[in-house]
Amino acid sequence: MSVMAETEDGIGQRLRLAGLRLTPQRYAVLDFLVRSESHPTAEQVGAGVNRRFPRASRATVYNALHTLCEAGLVQELYFEDGVARYDANVGPHHHFLCRFCGELEDVSVETVKGLAGGPVKPGYRVDEFHIMMRGVCARCAGAKARRNKRRSYGSQKHA
Ligand SMILES: [Zn+2]
Ligand SMILES: [Zn+2]
Repeated sequence: MSVMAETEDGIGQRLRLAGLRLTPQRYAVLDFLVRSESHPTAEQVGAGVNRRFPRASRATVYNALHTLCEAGLVQELYFEDGVARYDANVGPHHHFLCRFCGELEDVSVETVKGLAGGPVKPGYRVDEFHIMMRGVCARCAGAKARRNKRRSYGSQKHA
């Protein structure tokens, strides 16, 4: 693939439309985030990018993340642990964090549509909001149910 063709794909286009110069680092970071649905930390972005672009230093990756956030191509999400996680989905959506596996997933705005538009306080207008849900994901809930089932099955056998 020629360099020209590469810059014309979705990633190059996003960078260009945001007025950013296309650098291999920015390209690699944004490309990684667009492919990832897990909302990785800067550390994880660095590890992922280095698999394809082995000379990206930590500072380079952080700089690229910062630039992409400033340009509005990536959003930064903070939680209690203070570790930022990155999301290339900058459209309105909410998040669900699993307490067991720590997986952070997108939740569509449709899910909580009923909450939008209502006045929260007299005289206040809400333009946007982000809901952070915590609970147990389907995979962990399933694993727990299977463990419980095995346990009760085992105890029945011994009874
Ligand atoms: Zn889970
Ligand atoms: Zn998200």
